[in-house]
Amino acid sequence: MSSKDWIEKDYYAALGVEKSASSDEIKKSYRKLARESHPDHNPGDPKAEERFKAVSEAYAVLGDEKKRREYDEMRSLFGSGAFRRNARGAGQPGGMPFDVSDLFGGAGGGEARFGGGGLGDLFSSIFTGGGAGGAARPRGPARGRDVETEVALDFPDAVRGVTLPLTLRAPGVCETCHGNGAKPGTQPVTCPVCHGAGVTTRNQGSFSFSEPCRNCQGVGTIVEEKCPECHGTGGVTKTRTLNVRFPAGVADGQRIRLAGRGEPGERGGPAGDLFVHVKVRPDELFGRTGDDLTLTVPITFAEAVLGTDLRVPTLDGTVTLRVPPGTPSGRVLRARGKGVVRKDGRAGDLLVTLDVVVPAKLSDEARAALETFAEQTPPAAREHLDARVRRFS
Ligand SMILES: [Zn+2]
Ligand SMILES: [Zn+2]
Repeated sequence: MSSKDWIEKDYYAALGVEKSASSDEIKKSYRKLARESHPDHNPGDPKAEERFKAVSEAYAVLGDEKKRREYDEMRSLFGSGAFRRNARGAGQPGGMPFDVSDLFGGAGGGEARFGGGGLGDLFSSIFTGGGAGGAARPRGPARGRDVETEVALDFPDAVRGVTLPLTLRAPGVCETCHGNGAKPGTQPVTCPVCHGAGVTTRNQGSFSFSEPCRNCQGVGTIVEEKCPECHGTGGVTKTRTLNVRFPAGVADGQRIRLAGRGEPGERGGPAGDLFVHVKVRPDELFGRTGDDLTLTVPITFAEAVLGTDLRVPTLDGTVTLRVPPGTPSGRVLRARGKGVVRKDGRAGDLLVTLDVVVPAKLSDEARAALETFAEQTPPAAREHLDARVRRFS
């Protein structure tokens, strides 16, 4: 329980009682609801468990005269119209008479224990939650958070498409202590510094500042005997595995959106999205330009001059390409349809760049043959350059 919870949650509604209910009425209603929603009576029903937690949390406050008084005070303070109801995202000028961040800023309140949420969350809770006069309606469904992750694919997998299991880690509520961080059988105790309010007030001249209580990190309670499962944090890391299909031709740097595979929503809200950032490991042979694959093939001078048939690898086999006689170095040959094959049948090509290799060493016979060749062939066409060279000599 934190100051945030107090502002945000209507414990009277959770227990189904009027704000004016007597402590007997509260106790009676609590017992009935706790019995109905107890996890032991509803095995495997997460909704019942949620309800049970909400009921227990509400009773922990309303069942305690002193806490109930503080709760009422806090709710009337924050629900008094200083914070006008404000739809998320829809700005309402004039609804905020002072800067709320001054009120809570400067301390890591609520973050220390799971479920506390950040300060930003606290503010949005204030603006979406508390109605006037403490008659807060419960918050509506909230969409789950988007999740981002990164995946490295091998080059051939990216070209052909692949389905991979993706393990995601996300914070979840500890099931051993239902998130309150206390060893089963024990309860968190009210923080002696802030008396459960989660905030402390400090006077400075004629101003007074409220800030999250440092003793309990704004939670309002202290865990004396820690839950062995979560070590008192109330949260555990939950892993889930998803099979993700990467389509053929997925590119390095691409982001894939999996709608509804992010974190689950709250109170029946839709789940967030999962965004997967794709990295593609380079291949030792092939490169890629869009849907075309690229490959560089060395050939000899003789092959370029006389022509040849080249057997070259593709990603899935081989292909024979005709090099016509008199092919210059750098010429690109095209093997149609040997690139990325899209789902709709469109396919890229394999682009083969010919690289005429100049031998660094020659046998005597080869040298003699080449000299004969040189005598038999006209010089390279350099007249246009020679004219310019002559001007400077
Ligand atoms: Zn725990
Ligand atoms: Zn405290």
